[in-house]
Amino acid sequence: MSKLFTKILIANRGEIACRVIRTAKRLNIATVALYSDADTKSLHVAMADEAVHIGTSAVSESYLKADRIVDAALRTGAQAIHPGYGFLSENPDFVEQVEAAGLVFIGPSASSIRAMGLKDAAKRLMEKAGVPVVPGYHGEAQDGILLASKANEIGFPVLIKARAGGGGKGMRRVESAEEFAEALASAQREAKASFGDDKVLIEKYVEKPRHIEVQVFGDNHGNAVHLFERDCSAQRRHQKVIEEAPAPGMTSEMRAAMTDAAVKAAKAINYSGAGTIEFIVDASQGLQPDRFWFMEMNTRLQVEHPVTEMVTGQDLVEWQIRVAAGEPLPFTQDDIHLDGHAFEARLYAEDASRGFLPATGTLHHLRFPPEGSSIRIETGVRQADTISPFYDPMIAKIVTKGSDRKAALDMLVSALDVTEVAGSTVNTAFLSALARDGDFANGDVDTGLIARKQEALTALPAASARIKALAALRVASIDETTSNDPWTTLSGYAHFGSTAKAISLGESGEISVSLTAETNGVWRAEVDEQTVRFSPTSLPEALASAVAWPGHVTVFDGAVSHTFIARDPIDEAADADGGAGSLRAPMPGLVKLVRAEAGSKVSKGDPLLILEAMKMEHTIAAPHDGTIAEIAAEGAQVTDGTVLVRFEETGGN
Ligand code: ADP
Repeated sequence: MSKLFTKILIANRGEIACRVIRTAKRLNIATVALYSDADTKSLHVAMADEAVHIGTSAVSESYLKADRIVDAALRTGAQAIHPGYGFLSENPDFVEQVEAAGLVFIGPSASSIRAMGLKDAAKRLMEKAGVPVVPGYHGEAQDGILLASKANEIGFPVLIKARAGGGGKGMRRVESAEEFAEALASAQREAKASFGDDKVLIEKYVEKPRHIEVQVFGDNHGNAVHLFERDCSAQRRHQKVIEEAPAPGMTSEMRAAMTDAAVKAAKAINYSGAGTIEFIVDASQGLQPDRFWFMEMNTRLQVEHPVTEMVTGQDLVEWQIRVAAGEPLPFTQDDIHLDGHAFEARLYAEDASRGFLPATGTLHHLRFPPEGSSIRIETGVRQADTISPFYDPMIAKIVTKGSDRKAALDMLVSALDVTEVAGSTVNTAFLSALARDGDFANGDVDTGLIARKQEALTALPAASARIKALAALRVASIDETTSNDPWTTLSGYAHFGSTAKAISLGESGEISVSLTAETNGVWRAEVDEQTVRFSPTSLPEALASAVAWPGHVTVFDGAVSHTFIARDPIDEAADADGGAGSLRAPMPGLVKLVRAEAGSKVSKGDPLLILEAMKMEHTIAAPHDGTIAEIAAEGAQVTDGTVLVRFEETGGN
């Protein structure tokens, strides 16, 4: 066995940088991370053995700075660079630059990348290699009249694609000859703006299309194998949402045809490293071996590679490193087996109900299901980290495995149910709705599925009275201990009848919740003309689903989360003073019971007095430890903003 590298640099960030570092660690390879200004405290930096600052936050000033990246590798003594996906991973000039510096690029050769870089040239190459390509025109000539006549020949509907395209940009579906000229002009404009290249190809628009791709791997010794297929048909605007392996409904005949074609494609360009051959499949009559066509090759590790790892038991990053170090492929085709079924859901900071608008925010609360043999979490963030506007807003990939498709899908639904993110808008509920969709569950997938059902899949369920009550209890800082407190259960102060709090929550509108401690430690909440009660035994578990974060509270109900703006008038009054020096009356009222006096030492949370206002009683508790300097007198009528309690200055903290 040849010697592996002793140190590699990862020219990426986020989950994929963390993913590569994990395997490198296991192989005893030291790692160098790169970071931009926005990533100074990011997880991938913390995980790596060393980290090099590469520039300001914009990708063009950091993760795309080839010169600085090569320089960082040379300075830190790394022998190889892993590009991850995106950024410079499919840039042949970068590969040449890395190699010219005497370093190893963990990926294919510049010439392989170039061969597959433009969709039209790649299709011509694949056609020559005997790989089926989508019927259409992929010639050099770009005359408008010629393109229109080609479209007529192919037959509508057709798809115009930018040859330099990616991410669905510069792509237009055209229904009829009349619409062609305008669609062409608009595709060309978008292609020019996005890729600086307005050349297009025209394809037959495949009806009921499924996206099925084959993972391939080559080495520098002429070997190439496949690691079966993945189905990525669940897409929204050409972006993958949930991927799986193997493809539902796959037959052995179809699989043999597709994997043969994929290996042929890899061999045609002497491919080395991890690659993916993407095929489009006409599934209008089930999976038929003569109805799949090459779309493109991705010459890098794919975002969804973990599903393949789950069903083959292989570590593709380890394969990449070994192959780059000059080793032959670790396994031959006959040694690679398919076991069970796996799903990957992409958890994003985005607002599915508003056209999947990307979101930002601080992840004040972050819980994933525990990892194990059937659940893998690929993430680049921890609780308290920020999703910035600079990079892809992916939070994590939730990967599950089962002995069959149903078991793996059930596992995914359960995993999403216990995934909790507060601080940013996330797509958990959308992922869960898709995973539970009847057609998806039956494996009846095609690339139009999400668009057809978008409204139902992204609908936001209304918060129930119980959810609002839990939010209010959390905002009021009432927890499992409070209800056992003699002050709140009021055994000694029965003349007040009850202790009550008015909490208002903002969401789209104003929600008022009144909370009352009944005897026996039961909390009663009144909201939306409904009454919800929590017994001392049910409260702790119920409250575990409600999380407070600055100015907000989020209540989790399975994969659905409800976020409210927290408006505890008491807290607002405390906040107005920075929560330190004094507590003010949030509204006019009557001071009913005073539990402390000037000079009393109190601890955070100690009840200090009760303010009766708006027909309810509000317990004013100490926001922090301290000594009381001044406190309102019992029976005093106070106005809005009156100081109720003043603390002695402590001379800083
Ligand atoms: P990009 O590189 O911009 O992502 P692709 O060629 O990979 O473009 O296609 C993206 C998606 O568009 C595919 O996954 C599929 O859903 C759809 N698509 C591509 N080609 C066709 C076609 N000929 N007919 C129908 N849908 C297509």
